Amino acid sequence: MTPLMHHDVSGNPLIRVENLSKVYSLDGSLEGGEGGVVNSQVLFDVNLAIDRGDFVAIMGHSGSGKSTLMNILGCLDTPTSGHYWLEGCDIASLSDDELARVRNRNIGFVFQGFNLLKRMTALDNVAAPLLYAGVSRSDSRKRALELLNQTGLRRFAAYQPNQLSGGQQQRVAISRALVNNPQLILADEPTGNLDTQTSREIMAIFQQLNRDQGITIVLVTHEDDIAAYTQRVIRFQDGHVVHDDGAHA
Ligand code: ADP
Ligand code: MG
Repeated sequence: MTPLMHHDVSGNPLIRVENLSKVYSLDGSLEGGEGGVVNSQVLFDVNLAIDRGDFVAIMGHSGSGKSTLMNILGCLDTPTSGHYWLEGCDIASLSDDELARVRNRNIGFVFQGFNLLKRMTALDNVAAPLLYAGVSRSDSRKRALELLNQTGLRRFAAYQPNQLSGGQQQRVAISRALVNNPQLILADEPTGNLDTQTSREIMAIFQQLNRDQGITIVLVTHEDDIAAYTQRVIRFQDGHVVHDDGAHA
C-alpha cells in the first residue's frame, strides 16, 4: 500500500469528516428566474469517522446527498465548508497533482454503471491505472491478470465490455479498483444495475476483500439486503446524517 503521507500519525481514523457542508450554486436564469445565482445546500454539517478495516453502507433516499459525499471522500469534489482528513492529512492542503495521486494510488472507485472503457479489453481496462502511474506495460498486464484471476475473470481477459454480462463488467471494475493496492474502496451503488443473485456475488467479493485484505469499504446502497453484508450503516436524509451505527455517543 502507498501511504498517503509518510508522516501519518497512527491513531487517526482513515477518514474523518467534520462539519462538512456542500452548497451547489446554480445559474438561476436557467430556471426561468430573474437571473443571478441560486444556492442549493445538499450536505449539512456532516460529521463522520471511518476506521481502517471498516465496511460501511451509506443509505438514504435518492437526492439525500450520498453521491455528493462519496465524491468528496474520493477527492473528486471539494466541500463548501468543513474539513476532510484522509489518514490524518487535511485534503484541502493538497495540490491538484497530489490529489490526482491520492485518487490513483490510495482509492479504488466502483460505480453503478461500471465505467469501463468500451474499446479496450478487460485486461487493458484493469491495467490502465498502472500504465497511468508509470508502470511498464508487461508488469501492468501481469498484475492486471492476477486481479482478474482473483475476481474469477481470468479467462475473459481478452473480452471487451460489451461481450461481458453486467456482473462480469463489475468484476472487471473491481479488479481495476484494486490494481494499485488501495486502502480504501468507494463504491456508489455498485449493485444498482445487477440482478439479485449477481448482486450477492459482487457483495461476497467486497466482503472477502474487507475480511481477508483489510480493505476499508464505503458502499452506497438503497437495499437492506445489500447493506446487511456490511458492518455499519450510516443513513442520510436531506443532507443530514440521521443514523450512524458507528457514532460514538
Ligand atoms: P444521492 O446520491 O443521495 O441520490 P446526490 O448527492 O446525487 O444524491 O444529490 C443530492 C442533491 O444535490 C440532489 O438534489 C441533486 O439534484 C443535487 N446535485 C447533485 N449534483 C449536483 C450538481 N453538480 N449541481 C447542482 N446540484 C447537484
Ligand atoms: Mg447517488
